[in-house]
Amino acid sequence: MTTAILSALAEEQQGLIELLREPRRVARAGREFWLGELHGTPVVLALSRIGKVAAATTTTTLIEAFGVQRLIFTGVAGGIGPGVQVGDVVVASEFVQHDMDASPLFPRYQIPLYDRERFACDIALGEALLAASRASLESLALPATVHHGLIASGDRFVSAAEEARALHAALSNAGHAPLAVEMEGAAVAQVCHDYAIPYAAVRTISDRADDSAHVDFPQFVTEVASRYALAIIDEFVRELNKSSARGV
Ligand code: SAH
Repeated sequence: MTTAILSALAEEQQGLIELLREPRRVARAGREFWLGELHGTPVVLALSRIGKVAAATTTTTLIEAFGVQRLIFTGVAGGIGPGVQVGDVVVASEFVQHDMDASPLFPRYQIPLYDRERFACDIALGEALLAASRASLESLALPATVHHGLIASGDRFVSAAEEARALHAALSNAGHAPLAVEMEGAAVAQVCHDYAIPYAAVRTISDRADDSAHVDFPQFVTEVASRYALAIIDEFVRELNKSSARGV
């Protein structure tokens, strides 16, 4: 079973490429894909690129051209839920698109013709990512919290406290209180739903989507994000490999 590991940032991907056995680079759809084996598990590494459409194209290519059978996403996000701080980790249980609005034809946030606002992540993969996140934060001796819940995606870098507050309030009023905001996850979740491919996602919090997000984001990305992502994915794939060896 081939696992796709989709990263948002080149910094996150670099460490993983270095761990690949017999890495092979393939170009497709204007993107680069890295094929190889990670701790005995066949994987394809790709960069999602930024925004929902780019992430959907990458995901579709992974499924259609590379035949991946499960997909893991790692990236950074803005923390907008109460108590979700810079340096924390959020494992997604579900995704909503905060910029989807076909009202009054369809209820606000509902994806037209899907009859739903949210796409759920695979429970078993999500649990495995949660365990890997907790274990790697502990081994890195980082005093961060691991959260599990809803993530909101949209084609917008949220970088103003008032906007983040309004976004959180509007989503919460509609019953979709999110922990974090980013720009790709819900698109990947929708494509994986279409193809019935199990999907799970982990985001480290780079900023609070507030007035200092434009400063916090690049600083976090260059200084810490890649270390987190590498440690979490490394741990996750080792465990995945052990459970497939046990036939789980
Ligand atoms: N030129 C920048 C653009 C990053 S856009 C760069 O590549 O360095 C921000 C990325 O991080 C997106 O992929 C998004 O998913 C995530 N992200 C982090 N903080 C965010 C926020 N406050 N709002 C929206 N997306 C955020």
